[in-house]
Amino acid sequence: MTSAIASTAQQSAQESPRVNLLGLSLRQMEQFFLDLGEKKFRAQQVLKWIHHAGVTDIVQMTNLGKALRDKLGDIAEVRPPRIVSQHDSSDGTRKWAIAVDGGGLIESVLIPEAGRATLCVSSQVGCSLDCSFCSTGKQGFQRDLSAAEIIGQVWLAIKSYDAFQSGNGRIVTNVVMMGMGEPLLNFDNVVAAMDLMLEDLAYGISKRRVTLSTSGVAPALDRLAEVSEVSLAVSLHAPNDELRNQLVPINRKYPIAVLLESCRNYIGAQRDSKRVVTVEYTLIAGVNDQREHARELAVLLRDFPCKINLIPFNTFEQSDYQRPSGNAVSRFWQVLVDAGYIVTVRTTRGDDINAACGQLVGQVVDRTRRSERHRAAAETQIIEVG
Ligand code: SAH
Ligand code: SF4
Repeated sequence: MTSAIASTAQQSAQESPRVNLLGLSLRQMEQFFLDLGEKKFRAQQVLKWIHHAGVTDIVQMTNLGKALRDKLGDIAEVRPPRIVSQHDSSDGTRKWAIAVDGGGLIESVLIPEAGRATLCVSSQVGCSLDCSFCSTGKQGFQRDLSAAEIIGQVWLAIKSYDAFQSGNGRIVTNVVMMGMGEPLLNFDNVVAAMDLMLEDLAYGISKRRVTLSTSGVAPALDRLAEVSEVSLAVSLHAPNDELRNQLVPINRKYPIAVLLESCRNYIGAQRDSKRVVTVEYTLIAGVNDQREHARELAVLLRDFPCKINLIPFNTFEQSDYQRPSGNAVSRFWQVLVDAGYIVTVRTTRGDDINAACGQLVGQVVDRTRRSERHRAAAETQIIEVG
């Protein structure tokens, strides 16, 4: 652990009644200063201190004036979550375990590739949706992350490379909401955090380089279309409802036709007409990886604006599923390519540190009952939204 991270860890104290400025979007920050009787432009200054300069100590925000800094110090703070451990893979992938208030652990992963580095960010501690092939789902659900805890993962990644100091905050070029949790079940906090990812006064990442991945919470996706323009990935994993019901239980509530319609609606709402949905398909040996599944998928997605990303299943302890052979993956890929699709196969990164998709487990407290409660609450909320 570097000294920069260690000092961050010490700063991150117990739960605090003060407002955590780290998670406020520009609009929320402006409102915060207006409510204090201050000028709105203070929001821009504070955002830059936090997200461009990596400053957490309000005393160091020297262009605010001493009186305002004193006032802020009494009621507000900048409190990133705390890094507990950091692992570097031989392929350059770096994974952090991050402690959040309430005793849970989440994980985020930075994957460097030629010319870019993609940060995989968590949105919840655990997940209530219990997809049969996902280790996060097996952990149950503990709670939603706050906006500060979500954007805090970006902040910590940059801090861990000392990149604020070097003025190289752009070390994170892409963000995917593909860590632990279902982002659309933590709607407001995820939207606030994604606003900061896109905001020039914060991280200034292009909307095409921020991707939200969902297992298919269709009504929440319709809502997202009204407030966000990030890229969309949808976790399909099966070409028909019968199979998808087994793999992705939320499909029983929002079947494939409903989900694809919401995806079309999302894409249709974007100003940029060239956008497509990334369809994610985790290939599980003998379950959904046969030639006929590929053919059925090709028919299902005909005329649907998409590219397809195949993810060979990543094994974990509590699962009996197997990863398909390279041949099986190629065969599946070929059927789709022959049908005219753009298809990529996700290479596994960070295998030696369990950093691959679906291997992020964190540590979740009070699993089942909370999970049931949350699912019930989420479904009620979804019905209202829809
Ligand atoms: N909850 C969201 C985002 C997190 S999961 C979602 O489901 O889309 C990110 C991606 O990893 C999803 O496509 C998910 O289906 C996939 N995934 C989960 N477990 C996996 C595993 N064991 N092997 C391969 N991919 C997995
Ligand atoms: Fe949750 Fe996504 Fe895992 Fe399903 S795949 S259990 S929605 S994190």
